[in-house]
Amino acid sequence: MGKRILLHVCCGPCSTSSIERLLSEGYEPVLFFSDSNIFPYEEFVKRYENLLKVAEHYNLPVILDEWKHDEWLEAVRGHEGDREHGERCSICFHFNLGKAAAKARELGIDEFTTTLTVSRFKKSSAIFQEGKDYSGFAEIDFKKKDGFNRSIVLSRELGLYRQSWCGCEFSRRGV
Ligand code: SF4
Repeated sequence: MGKRILLHVCCGPCSTSSIERLLSEGYEPVLFFSDSNIFPYEEFVKRYENLLKVAEHYNLPVILDEWKHDEWLEAVRGHEGDREHGERCSICFHFNLGKAAAKARELGIDEFTTTLTVSRFKKSSAIFQEGKDYSGFAEIDFKKKDGFNRSIVLSRELGLYRQSWCGCEFSRRGV
């Protein structure tokens, strides 16, 4: 049996190559879908259902966290108009990683990490910066080892829905 790690998952497509890499490195991932940033709720459900396909494929457990969009909006208050990759996104990473840290602690899992680093649209260093505030955060850069391209290939193979915007209502402008 590998070492358990809680994997915060932002969406099904990003989870694919992250899971593949963790498995290849001997980990046993427990998937955690905690993404109160996603808006509207129907989109949150759609992305979760997509993740279920991935979990079934790899035969891994999934934990669904409650959608607390109001709490998330409170956290980013005053940053609604920030450009993408700015302060709002750092707060958003911090928010979701905080939920993952708490869940890992609750489950007695020593390490946790996030699929957020797969995206070529997100700086891994900015995500790592927020993760530093939580003990047990594993700085794994899933973009490395061709992770982003691999996620596209695997998503196609699994017939996954790939969204065209990051997640929150502020990232959806113009989509
Ligand atoms: S653009 Fe993405 S990372 Fe930034 S605040 Fe919105 S959902 Fe979070």
